[in-house]
Order: sequence, then C-alpha cells, then structure tokens
Amino acid sequence: MHPALKLALVFAALISIGGSCDRPSVLVVGLDGADWRVIDPLIDAGYLPTLRGLVISGARADLSCVEAHPASACFCPPVWTSIATGQPLSVHGIGGFGAPSTARKAPAIWEVLGTARAQKSNTLISYRNTWPPEDVATFVATEPGLQALTLTHFQPGPPPTHPGIPDVGTHAKPVHLFRRAGLLHHSGPRPIVFQSAAQDRFAFDVLNWTPKSKLTMILLHSPDKSEHLTWCSIQSTPGGPIDEGALLAQAAAWAGPIEGTDFGTVASQYLEMDHLLGLHLAARSYDTIFLVSDHGMDVGGFCGAHGVLNPAAHTGVFLVSGEGVAADTSIGRATVLDVAPTLAYALRLPVAQDLPGRVLIEGFTADHQSNRPIHTVPSWD
Ligand SMILES: [Zn+2]
Ligand SMILES: [Zn+2]
Repeated sequence: MHPALKLALVFAALISIGGSCDRPSVLVVGLDGADWRVIDPLIDAGYLPTLRGLVISGARADLSCVEAHPASACFCPPVWTSIATGQPLSVHGIGGFGAPSTARKAPAIWEVLGTARAQKSNTLISYRNTWPPEDVATFVATEPGLQALTLTHFQPGPPPTHPGIPDVGTHAKPVHLFRRAGLLHHSGPRPIVFQSAAQDRFAFDVLNWTPKSKLTMILLHSPDKSEHLTWCSIQSTPGGPIDEGALLAQAAAWAGPIEGTDFGTVASQYLEMDHLLGLHLAARSYDTIFLVSDHGMDVGGFCGAHGVLNPAAHTGVFLVSGEGVAADTSIGRATVLDVAPTLAYALRLPVAQDLPGRVLIEGFTADHQSNRPIHTVPSWD
C-alpha cells in the first residue's frame, strides 16, 4: 500500500473512533411528586402530548424511593440527592432543604461527568441542594435563587411561601445567568401568582436561554406543591383508588397557566409542565431524555402527602427515551438508586462498582447493549 494512502486510512480510523466517542446529550426532567397514576389516565385521555411521546418511545419503570432513606418516607431533598449520586442518605449526607452542596459526601453525576477529559458541560436548574454552585458545574440556577426571583416579580400566592430573599448573585453560575435570561430586573405591578408555578416558569426561561450542555438537569416543583394542596380531590382513602373521573374533569377544566390566587389542581401542573417541556423540545433536541420523580403521593397530612410509611403510595416515575432505548418497554420496578448508574451509562461514563444500584440495562436494545457494554470503575470517589 502506498504510504500516503496508509496514512490516510489511519487518520480515517482515528476520526471514526473520535466520532463514535461523541458523548450524547442528556436531559433529565425531574417532576417532583409525579405519579404514573396521574400521568397514565391523562395520556390515555389525550392529554400530556409531550410525555405521551416520551412514553411511546421510551422504557419506563415504577420508581421506589424508600431505598434513599427508609425512615424518611421519601422526603424530597435526600431522594433527589440519591437520584443524583446513586447513594442513600446514610452515604451522601444531604438530609434537608437548606443543606449546601458542600455538605454532599458522595459525587453527583455532574461531578462524575466533570472528571471526563472532554464534553463535560453541565446545566443544573432548580435542582435541590446545588447551592453554592460547584466548580465543576457549567451553568447553575439554584432553587432558592429562582424562588427569590419570583418574589421580585410577584406577590406570593397561597402557601407554601418563601422564607426570604437570598442574594441572587450567589445563586447563579455564571453570575449574570438570571440577568441574561431576562429575569433579574422587574418594575411595575407585582401580581399574585402561586410561587411554585412561577418558579417553574422561570426555570424554563433559564433553560431556554442557557446554551445546550451534555448533561442538563431541570427540577420542576409545582406538581408536588399542588398535589399537597389538592391530592384529596382525586383520592379519598390512603392507599385507595384514584378517582380518574375527577382527575379528567380537572384536566378538561384547565384553561392555561394558573394565575392569581389559584394554586391549581392535581392535573393543572402536569398539563402546564408538559406544555412548557414541549415548547423547549420543539426548539432543542437531546439524544436521550430521562423523566424522574422522587415519590408519588397519597392522602395524608392536610390533603396530599408522602410522609406516610406506605411504600406502595410512594412509587414514583422513571422513564428513559432516546439513544439505544428499547421503545414502549416496561422495566418493572426500579429504585431511585438505579438512576445515577443509568445516567452514567447513557452519558458513556464509567459506572462505579460500589454503587448499591444498577444500570437499568434492560431498557436498552440488545444491539445497543452489545455495541455499548457497561464500563465500570471501582468507585467514583
Ligand atoms: Zn418531592
Ligand atoms: Zn412534597
């Protein structure tokens, strides 16, 4: 073979290897409190077109959250950190709303990505316990920062209300993120709006402005908040059946994003989040999309709760759709500790052997499994 041709073939092979190593772009949509018992009837009745598309093209599971911390009854902050780290509360150490990112004792998936040599950009929007923004993070809009912004634009609606306004400058990375997204300055009237809904709308504003990263995680809080206030409208007894007729009546009555003193219905925040996600995905595509919730909901407390020790009532949502995923597939039962290793697999990162969870590999096609075997390392630490 002519030496020049040989050299060209070597370069072609190298380019081919490089191309095949391109890291897929992954979007993780966290829907706090999302429950298949709400999503499925709404999809079957023709609502939630965005989630319907993901379900049809995706692999789904019922997601158990008690593994995050058996005694906490699926309290949101430790569960979301278990989703991000693959470790239970006893290892990751994030037990409450106010715990800073510096208190986390196990690496989150964005830190694992951050150790990659290339293609490691990441975006964290409204994700729990991500303040202060970490060095490894590319774009961050913290949950308390977004909460504070809502108070500069709106009067808080019904409870829960925000305890105070932090210095928003420390709650974004880069510091001009909120200003560039057009959210920082506001003058004029401050209408009353349900704070969680306003916060989620701002979260999408930031997401739509932020350049695309390899890993994007956005956490939407209003489904959980509306469920706490209105869940008893669709379920009368703990562990009992869901009144799908009442749920569908709520969906039929939805007239667009809630405003004023309206704090929504169980259906309303799913419908609005589906709409906002659909607008985002019409403008930006990802190779793989995950939909995850930290728990389901049950009757209890004031109206809806996840503070009762009834594991069946805590079942949350897991869905993956995209590169190599086996469409319209049911994985059965998974746990919140399985999400981080599966995210690592989707991002072509090594999976730590000391994680208690596993890659939900049966959600991917046989071809993909053989073309993309799981790579492991002893630990992510
Ligand atoms: Zn929650
Ligand atoms: Zn809650």
